[in-house]
Amino acid sequence: MSTPSRTPLIALDLWRAQRAGRPGLERRRRRRLDSLVAHARTASPFYRHLYRGLPNGEVTLGDLPPVAKPELMAAFDDWVTDARVTRADVEAFTADPARVGVPYRGGSFVCTSSGTTGHPGLFVHDRRAVAVYQAEVAVRCYLAWLGREQWLGLARHGVREAAVVGTGTHVAGAGWYERGRRGSRLAARTLQVFSVQQPLDDLVAALNQFQPTVLGGYPSALDQLADEHDAGRLRIRPVLAATAGESLESPVRSHIAAAFGAPVRDAYAASEGLYFGFDCAHEWVHLSSDWSILEPVDDAFRPTPPGQASHTTLLTNLANHLQPVIRYDLGDSVLARPDPCPCGNPLPAVRVAGRSDDAMHLRTASGREITVLPLAIGVAMEPTHHVRRAQIVQTGPSTIRLRLDPDPAFDAEAIWRDLVANVRAFLIAQDLGDVAVVRADEPPQLSGRGGKFRRVVVEAPRPPTPSPTSRNGGSSLG
Ligand SMILES: [Zn+2]
Repeated sequence: MSTPSRTPLIALDLWRAQRAGRPGLERRRRRRLDSLVAHARTASPFYRHLYRGLPNGEVTLGDLPPVAKPELMAAFDDWVTDARVTRADVEAFTADPARVGVPYRGGSFVCTSSGTTGHPGLFVHDRRAVAVYQAEVAVRCYLAWLGREQWLGLARHGVREAAVVGTGTHVAGAGWYERGRRGSRLAARTLQVFSVQQPLDDLVAALNQFQPTVLGGYPSALDQLADEHDAGRLRIRPVLAATAGESLESPVRSHIAAAFGAPVRDAYAASEGLYFGFDCAHEWVHLSSDWSILEPVDDAFRPTPPGQASHTTLLTNLANHLQPVIRYDLGDSVLARPDPCPCGNPLPAVRVAGRSDDAMHLRTASGREITVLPLAIGVAMEPTHHVRRAQIVQTGPSTIRLRLDPDPAFDAEAIWRDLVANVRAFLIAQDLGDVAVVRADEPPQLSGRGGKFRRVVVEAPRPPTPSPTSRNGGSSLG
């Protein structure tokens, strides 16, 4: 059985694999892993060297040495399996914001990440991988997430999907949506991207105008919009809220669901493989284990038993042969469900424990509280060059500390000035021009939670605010 390469055929195969249960999923995983590793050994100088001591033929996953983003990025031109794809070429492509979502070299999808580890990454997904991700979204996301009520709601009110994400750079979320819009006239009409970086009042006005029936975006963004809905400023009635990009905590999920009177569903996604899985009504993420392998492991890369939160997770993306991601240290802490999920889905179920950056709640000069999302301020810091790591710590209602680890090959003072200017410009746009920005003497710190780097750390307790009252918790149909 050959591996299909077009979206409709892949979609059919996804459906069949799920119906076939564990043996069918395992068979596909095995075949695709052998093919990926064989291709990487032949066409990627990096993996040829890394695997030089391993026997030829069928390999056991556990025998392959884990890899991490810094070493792969350092060897970018040897990592990829097509010599025409070079780091210089991809960097030139991603330097242009007008090319967000534009197919690269005959249909590949390019995205960038700073990720939870704080190291920048460049990812190139080949055409077949793109087709797999599209099929996964169709079969395991929309077909699985939309129930009878949601279909009726869409039939009655039309399909208009809003994606509230970081924009202006080639980050995976916005890039993926833009790619979809460029690829289909129907998507261009029904899907619109809204920037989380714009002032909240503008975002609310734009959403009131668009009237989305599906509201998608980062959990922290939808949480903020739920507040706006409770306050009566946001007047939309989505039939579904779909989140991705950050971990979705239970209180946030409940808040969004209560505010909009719609189910909230979450996708597990990252730049290294786009979509790894989609959650079910029992709030477990079911992994697409026929197209990617996630291994929960401890700090020595030994398997973590189901039922325990892992130190990190090794990802193998079976869909992308252009830039092989094999036992890649993802940095996420996950917990695998030890028993079958009551929803009946045979795909392995996990909870993702370790991806939460903090949202800051800052006060304007007039005393109004404004929520600043970690991804939004992260995107605002990105134009500053020669930053190895930067971190923001909220130390008071109107005070933030900036920690910087500049590239020592460049003028630290100039990097500081540029970073402070970018952060200030962002704050002023949010009506937070009075927030004090303090330059910290200490470098960025790792957090206690799993030793991960978080770009934003909140050390100041949130001042008490009136608790939002939930409304219309009933039917999502108008
Ligand atoms: Zn389930």
